[in-house]
Amino acid sequence: MTKGEVVSNKQVLLKDYVVGIPKETDMVLSTGIIKLKAPQGSEAVVVKNLYLSCDPYMRSLLQKHDRFRFFPSYTPGSVITGHTVATVVDSNHPNFKEGDLVWGITGWEEYSLITETNFLHKVEHTDVPLSYYTGILGMSGLTAYAGFHEVCSPKEGENVFISAASGAVGQLVGQFAKLMGCYVVGSAGSKEKVDLLKNKFGFDEAFNYKEEDDLDAALRRYFPEGIDIYFENVGGKMLDAVLLNMKINGRIAVCGMISQSNLEKPEGVHNLFCLVSKQIRMEGILVGNWLHLYPKFLDFIVPFIKEGKISYVVDTAEGLDKAPGALIGLFSGRNVGKQVVVVARE
Ligand code: NAP
Repeated sequence: MTKGEVVSNKQVLLKDYVVGIPKETDMVLSTGIIKLKAPQGSEAVVVKNLYLSCDPYMRSLLQKHDRFRFFPSYTPGSVITGHTVATVVDSNHPNFKEGDLVWGITGWEEYSLITETNFLHKVEHTDVPLSYYTGILGMSGLTAYAGFHEVCSPKEGENVFISAASGAVGQLVGQFAKLMGCYVVGSAGSKEKVDLLKNKFGFDEAFNYKEEDDLDAALRRYFPEGIDIYFENVGGKMLDAVLLNMKINGRIAVCGMISQSNLEKPEGVHNLFCLVSKQIRMEGILVGNWLHLYPKFLDFIVPFIKEGKISYVVDTAEGLDKAPGALIGLFSGRNVGKQVVVVARE
């Protein structure tokens, strides 16, 4: 690969809008060509993609209409876009030069021409695994940090519950809560994940929600005195059960509701009156509104990573052709930890 060369470019395209549960065949692998040169007169950057991040929000971009969405959907026949880690091949932008490692939004393809560079950031720490910029040092990490530390207002000794707790965001929220001296319980969808929560991430307790007929009873078992903080990743029946078990003046950070992603009509929530009777604060978090905290977040997290005080489990799929399967696997819990796809190694 040399600058200016025209090369073939493997890409993942959306085949058609998705309805219901997404399938691998909703996306297709195709081969285009790309000139490895940023066009003259632009501030564009050409990158070679290394790692792709699979994120639940991408599900809503696969469908035509979604009243709750914050980005426009993908267009059938166009390249899927998402958070990636990449290396700069050519640049006309003053902030980026050939060889720089960057993270941000690019395409699910071998090489991308980026004309909208607002979403591109330089990789600051190269002495940690580069794939971390799709997760712990990227959007998932900042979401966990802002959602827990800013929205939940945690205090030492409080009782914290996290759903989808072994995932990209959840595993970090639990570890942040332990660092603050909280009692921490997580739910996840398999024995392997429950073991990870207790034995690797240091949660006090964890349970497999798929094996519980009565989620309310399960939560009462782990929180006889109630929950101070709920970090909401799944919605649906879990949220209803949590509301019944919240303490007075509890806080709920609503980060996501993945159990509702593939439903044409979201389920209702029945126990919302608990917000009144227990004076609970329930607040949504959108990571894009917390980007100003990123430098502070890096100062917080990087020492913990280097000292081995925070672990991060990444689930790696090898090759662009594995990307569709890796993405849809999020919705059946196939991923164990942050789901990443390796396109190329540095
Ligand atoms: P993740 O947890 O790494 O992966 C998704 C996990 O969700 C799966 O592994 C599965 O784990 C669980 N899941 C899937 N379908 C489910 C269902 N029907 N019921 C219950 N659990 C289900 O994903 P993530 O990136 O950390 O995201 C977690 C949540 O945070 C998502 O809701 C996402 O949308 C949200 N998020 C929000 C923001 C924001 O700015 N608001 C940013 C990032 C992420 P189990 O095997 O445990 O079921």
